[in-house]
Amino acid sequence: SSWWSGVEMGPPDPILGVSEAFKKDTNPLKMNLGVGAYRDDQGKPFVLPSVREAERIIAQKGLNKEYAPIGGEPEFGRLSANLAFGQGNEIVSSGRNVSVQTISGTGALRVGATYLAKWFPGNKTVYLPRPSWGNHTPIFKQSGMNVDGYRYYDPTTCGFDFNGAMEDISRIPEKSVIMLHACAHNPTGVDPKDEQWKEMSQLVKKRNLFAFFDMAYQGFASGDVDRDAFAVRQFLEDGHNICLSQSYAKNMGLYGERVGAFTVVCKDKEEAARVNSQIKILIRPMYSNPPVNGSRIVSEILTNTALNKQWLEDVKGMADRIITMRQELKDGLANEGSSKNWEHIVDQIGMFCFTGMTPEQVEKITTEFSVYMTKDGRISVAGISSSNVGYLAKAMHAVTK
Ligand code: PMP
Repeated sequence: SSWWSGVEMGPPDPILGVSEAFKKDTNPLKMNLGVGAYRDDQGKPFVLPSVREAERIIAQKGLNKEYAPIGGEPEFGRLSANLAFGQGNEIVSSGRNVSVQTISGTGALRVGATYLAKWFPGNKTVYLPRPSWGNHTPIFKQSGMNVDGYRYYDPTTCGFDFNGAMEDISRIPEKSVIMLHACAHNPTGVDPKDEQWKEMSQLVKKRNLFAFFDMAYQGFASGDVDRDAFAVRQFLEDGHNICLSQSYAKNMGLYGERVGAFTVVCKDKEEAARVNSQIKILIRPMYSNPPVNGSRIVSEILTNTALNKQWLEDVKGMADRIITMRQELKDGLANEGSSKNWEHIVDQIGMFCFTGMTPEQVEKITTEFSVYMTKDGRISVAGISSSNVGYLAKAMHAVTK
């Protein structure tokens, strides 16, 4: 027998499986609403003009290919923390943050989960919103954390279950970790309102919970990077010393460059130095040090005034196109004569929309209309364009009436 005869076949990835089925379909009207990557109005992958320009500038510098430090370039960490916390924030200026470059948002979560599993002094259980991004559970479990949850999504309204969330959070054992999606919650597209964030912040404080923010879509939700950082900044203002994962996959379109950051906000500079030393000890045997190309692009965009302005316009352009598609889909459903309430399509925000379609309806829209999406009824709004939004509305109405 072979060394690996005992290895069982694992299940395919639920999201990448949708793309496989889509590729095989020969219907010219087919739509892939499974993948979480932005597409332009022609349905094509999009490289931001600011990124193209940054690449041109960087190429001209003729830089070498030396290793980055274990935590990436310190300037990159500082720039990332400032983007999240706001220019001139007290945390970065007093040096009490540890901010390292990671292998995109997934890597930030993984480094964070590993750090918590080793050093978090309380209950080593993270409470995730129900539902949460599908990769959160395996990331935390494989890092040695326990995973539990709190109510978040209300299927009856396709909106935020504020009362359910508050009730569940008030029962989380103190000194546990709570995971919060900073904006554009994946997979539901449902975010708390500002006032609700404020109440959640107070409750998290009262329960003595540690807040871990996952910010994979800063700027991508509203089109404004400061607006989308509201929750993170509110928690900081309320005195929470949070940790944070950031990704530049969506807001800079740097998916395959794998560039992100992990930050721990500490009590003071001395504590930050100790935490930083331990995070380096965890990263070193995992992947030694992060890739340099993506972080050079990010740093160029965040430090070059003209490019920064261009980037903010690029992000706004992507967010606005998504918001327009939401409106057109909702209008399209009304035009088809749907009597259902589709208000949640425009109330939700970011890349994804939880349509409320049942698994049977998803099955039907795929087999009869070649519209591909995950079984939970989630669609990537970024996959819709002005030329196929009408077809989608027709198909959705046909399977939901
Ligand atoms: N967190 C959430 C909530 C996400 O939706 C994503 C992207 N799908 C990520 C983290 C990380 O993605 P990446 O590793 O590509 O930055």
